[in-house]
Formats: sequence, structure tokens, C-alpha cells
Amino acid sequence: MKIKVRVAPSPTGFLHIGNAQSALYNWLFARKNNGNFYLRIEDTDKERSTKEYEHSILYALEWLGLNWDGEVVRQSQRGIKYRKALEQLITEGKAFWCNHTKEELEEEKKEQEAKKESLRHICSHRNNKVHYPTSISQRINDWVLRLAVNQKVERIVMFNDVIRGSIEFDARLLGDFSIARSLDNALYNFAVVVDDADMEITHVIRGEDHISNTPKQILIYEALGKTPPQFAHLPLILASDRSKLSKRHGGTAVADYKKDYLPEAIVNFLGGLSYTFSKDILTKEEMVEEFDLSKVHKSGAVFDVKKLNWLNSQYIKKLSPEEFKKVSGMPEIPDAAVSLITERLEKLSDAQNFDYFWKEPEYDPKLLLWKNSSPEDVKKSLEAVSKILWKSDFHKQDLLRESLDELGKKLGNRGLAYWPLRVALTGKEKSPDPVDIAYVLGKEKTLRRVEIAIEKI
Ligand code: GLU
Repeated sequence: MKIKVRVAPSPTGFLHIGNAQSALYNWLFARKNNGNFYLRIEDTDKERSTKEYEHSILYALEWLGLNWDGEVVRQSQRGIKYRKALEQLITEGKAFWCNHTKEELEEEKKEQEAKKESLRHICSHRNNKVHYPTSISQRINDWVLRLAVNQKVERIVMFNDVIRGSIEFDARLLGDFSIARSLDNALYNFAVVVDDADMEITHVIRGEDHISNTPKQILIYEALGKTPPQFAHLPLILASDRSKLSKRHGGTAVADYKKDYLPEAIVNFLGGLSYTFSKDILTKEEMVEEFDLSKVHKSGAVFDVKKLNWLNSQYIKKLSPEEFKKVSGMPEIPDAAVSLITERLEKLSDAQNFDYFWKEPEYDPKLLLWKNSSPEDVKKSLEAVSKILWKSDFHKQDLLRESLDELGKKLGNRGLAYWPLRVALTGKEKSPDPVDIAYVLGKEKTLRRVEIAIEKI
């Protein structure tokens, strides 16, 4: 049996972190088992789905390197399949039309609440067969097509979740749940089942928020005479306060991460969130080697941004100057500066803080003052530094650093030699070693910045 899995995002928003993790685990499972990984766009909600979101989802998956097999499947193009399946169930008496009004349903709900029963609609229309009116003007009520769920016999719907083990539901508690608003408007659970059956999906791997949909989907499979796939429900991704990660925590859309993070770091991070691999840093190909669906953790994983930043910094360090200039979108960075920057970077956009490598810094002259030193002391120091720089031939092997150390000794204070130079070159309190910066800038620019500082002070 060929393994076939899918990721099924809805284009009602950007691809979020949870979807990206589902996509990754589906991808890992497919690649591990020489199976197929499909992408299905669940765009049945016509009001909320947009092409822009769809494009951004496709783009985000490509960016993460989670390549899918075959064509993208779109639910909006499969209406005829849903209609046929709905007609089949009506013909076989397994689904029926219900036109109970909102008020009637509300009344039923109140009674059930009073009796502390689970809320569901047990429809009287199933027996007296109400017919869906052919004329549009007659369809004044909220018509829905419902699956007839046997209320008389106890029926436990059971499935063996690959990650969580056996899960059971009492089918009677579901009531006669709705599966379509019209023959051309199948509801979510119905469309998913028809699609998964047609696409011959063998394993449905998705977030645990879909566990409660699973018994309904199993009953739909049964009604359609199809065999359900295996289910595997992934744990939720939690925010640091252990609530479900949501928009209010910010940064839940994969697209938000692009300006700061490398896709390899995100994939590595998402992989390790709910799975224990043999090491912290690994490529998705290495994850494939180790991946075993049944070993995915059951409990929710906290989204630890520090860990993500650390992973990102590890991947950033490995970039060549060419790669780094490209991913950071800053072609102006001098090649020689790249390793000085990447050694210190957690987020790509912070490369902006090193802009003194490619433009003269602006700063408050007071910053040049080292601790309690006077402007005269600092001026003297900068003039001495300038002389040393003149003599230096600006090769790493030369004695620039030693000469500056000597100057520090002569001034009785190492800081007085290095601090004003640092500020003159960078305009900042913190930076890589000023000597390393001077080598990157070259003799001419370094001297010019020191001269500017002498004038400023
Ligand atoms: N469209 C659903 C979602 O975005 C996917 C459900 C499924 O994978 O079955 O959560």
C-alpha cells in the first residue's frame, strides 16, 4: 500500500505555525515511507477564502522547502464530487433534508441544557422525509442536509490514533449532524471525507483540534461505504503561558518570520517541538531518517522563541557572504564584514545594526568619552590612534593591535585607547573588536572616521 498524506490549509488567513508543523510531519512521514505528500486548499468558505491567502500559503510551503507531489487540489473545483456523494446518501436514505427553524433549534438546545444533555439536533424530519423545495422562493428557512445517525442503538465510534492510541465517542451524542447547506454547498466535514477518499489518503495527520471532527468523519465514511484512513492527531503548539498559540500572541503566521529567520531554522525548530530527535540541529533530510509517526509527543509543546533564535543563529553562522547578503536583503554588506556580523546575529533584520560597515555612523560626540576621561584625554588618544593607523599597513599580521595595546599602557588605561576608536568607527557602545572593524573598513575609511571624531570632540 502506497502511503498518501496531505496538508489541507484553508486560505482564510496566512499559513500559521501549526499548519506549518502539520505540513512538516506529513512531509517527513511521506518521505520516510516513499509515499506521496499532497496539498489541498480547503476553500469551501467562499466569503473568507481569498486567492491572496492561497498564494501566500503556497509560497510559505515552498519557502520552507516542503515540496508537495502532483497538482494542488482545490475544494472549490470539486463541487460536482460533493454533489454526487450527497445525492448518493439521499438516495440511500442515509441523509435527509431538515428545515427546522433557528427558533426551533434554539428551543431544543434549551431543553437539552436544562436536562444537562449534550447539545445536538435529533431531527424529526428524518422519518417524515421533508423534501427540499425545487423553487428558490420556497427555500425561506435554513435548509440543511443531515446525516441520519441512529439514536436508538448504542454505537461507539472508535479509532486508533497513531499518536494517541484508542479514542472513543458515543455516536448518539453527535445527533443528526449537518453535512451540507445545499447540494452545491457541502460542509467542511463532508468535503474532507469525500476528498480524502478520492485522493486515497492513507493517513490523516493534523492538529488535535480536529479530534472532535473525527467521529463525524468516520460516520460519513461509513455512510459512503468507504474505509476511513488512519488518523494521527498532533499536539497543540502552546504559547509561553501554556494557552493555545493564537494571533493575540503575535507572529503566528509563517510569513511574519521571513524577515528574521532562515527556513532551515524554522523547519528544524518545528520538527523538534513535538519530537525528540537524536540531536538539536538537523536538516529535514536527517529528520526523515529518524522519523516515526507513533513517537510524536502527545502533550502540547511550548513555542520557545529563545530556542528558535538560537537555532537561527546557528544556521546564520553557516552562510557564505553571498548567501547572507541575499537572505538579509542587504547586498551592500562588505564580504569581509559578513562573518563579524553573522557570529553575533540571532535575527536577520538585526544586520541593520551593523550598518557602520557600509556607511559613516552618526552619533552624539559625548559617546566618545571613555568613563571619567576628559574631552582633552580622548582627543589625545584619538590623535595617537591616528598616528598608529597611518603607520600600519592594515594587514591582519601587522602590529596594529599590539600598537594599540601599547598605547593603552602608555595612557594608563586600555579603555581610553580602544573606546573612542570603537565609537569613531561604529557610533555604538557595543560592536565587534574595533581592530577587526578597521581591517574591514580599510585604512582610508578608518582614518577618515577617526579624523571626524577628533573634530567632533
Ligand atoms: N482545513 C483544516 C485546517 O486548516 C484541515 C483539516 C484536516 O487536515 O483535516 O485546520
